[in-house]
Amino acid sequence: MRSIFSEEHEQFREQVRRFCEREIKPHYREWEKAGHSPRAFWRKAGENGLLCTTIPTEYGGPGGDFLHSVVVTEEMVRVGANLGMPVHSEMVSPYLLHYGSEELKQRLLPRLCRGEIIGSIGMTEPGTGSDLKNIRTNAVRDGDHWVLNGQKVWITNGFNCGVVLVACKTDPSAGAKGVSLIAVEEGTPGFTRSQPMDKIGLKAQDTAELFFDNVRVPLSNLVGEESRGFVYLMQQLPQERLVIALRSCATLETQLEKTIAYTTERKVFGNPIIGFQNSKFKLAEAKAYIAMLRAFVDQCALEHMNGGISSEKAAMAKLVGTELMGRFLDEFLQLHGGYGYSSEYEIGRAWVDARVSRIAGGASEVLKDIISRNL
Ligand SMILES: Cc1cc2nc3c(=O)[nH]c(=O)nc-3n(C[C@H](O)[C@H](O)[C@H](O)COP(=O)(O)OP(=O)(O)OC[C@H]3O[C@@H](n4cnc5c(N)ncnc54)[C@H](O)[C@@H]3O)c2cc1C
Repeated sequence: MRSIFSEEHEQFREQVRRFCEREIKPHYREWEKAGHSPRAFWRKAGENGLLCTTIPTEYGGPGGDFLHSVVVTEEMVRVGANLGMPVHSEMVSPYLLHYGSEELKQRLLPRLCRGEIIGSIGMTEPGTGSDLKNIRTNAVRDGDHWVLNGQKVWITNGFNCGVVLVACKTDPSAGAKGVSLIAVEEGTPGFTRSQPMDKIGLKAQDTAELFFDNVRVPLSNLVGEESRGFVYLMQQLPQERLVIALRSCATLETQLEKTIAYTTERKVFGNPIIGFQNSKFKLAEAKAYIAMLRAFVDQCALEHMNGGISSEKAAMAKLVGTELMGRFLDEFLQLHGGYGYSSEYEIGRAWVDARVSRIAGGASEVLKDIISRNL
């Protein structure tokens, strides 16, 4: 029914679907227990063209477009997987591609595309999350090096990352205008991280604290220009938010389908659960809202392909997508009864995993603030 994908995207989808069924689904429980996915998995994902889909072939990428990324996101949702691939592929690699020097691109992008190293982005700190301009991690010049000091928290892929793009103050007196992005590679003395953090959901997605204690990196590790970091973050956040919205929509579609199947099969008081008017109305309402959401997020995806989506539209897509996801996954879980609360059924995991999407990548309140600027 959807018209945004070409024949080639659909062929890619088949390939990604087979990969997810083979390489993710059977192992996911194990990864949830470990708190992260193994590095060997990332290399396989890279070999199969699932990482950094939009990076051009000259930097070792598959040379696809944003819709290839959408396909990967949707197929991951289909198998109920929530890994840190969007951060690696839709954030870290685009920052390097758009703003990094030629030397930095050649040094890091091919390894990210092959999954040899995993990428993180470090913005949030113990003292500040939504208000990014107040970060305290700093970097000072010392000869031909930057020296970084500070701490980051809640960093996706932090435990396994081979490179982290650190948002830090290079001019602490200049507020947002003093923020720069600096790449720090694994093994650099003074750079350490915690064990994966103990979260209520997203159990297979590693999230860690990062520590920088007099970490020296070459001046050439600066991504783009000094003090332009905040601008770069603001330019790239719409894509991150759109990906979260697309993910929310795919999650709702997948779980609606599964809930219809469950309520059709399971009998209560001699009748299938779906036979109750309450169940039918809940599912019908969800279907109608999800169809509206699908139309909007697909339009946003196309717009993003053809030049970039505005921060207002991306905020709207993420706000509505994640809020609807919160509401309807809760109703779907209710229709599963006690089984919804068991980890045997995907709805329980989807419900708890979804909660963070109204906080990370811009809390709903922050998104409303962005939208309200253009009233
Ligand atoms: C699983 C997970 C993964 C993450 N991954 C990353 C990552 O890879 N890299 C990274 O840098 N960060 C990451 N984060 C951090 C995430 O981006 C922050 O949690 C988020 O930005 C909110 O910041 P905070 O937690 O400090 O909450 P705060 O900024 O303290 O906000 C708390 C609450 O205050 C309210 N609030 C905030 N601002 C406003 C406002 N303007 N108006 C009204 N109310 C407001 C909202 O209700 C908000 O939820 C991750 C977080 C989680 C939980």
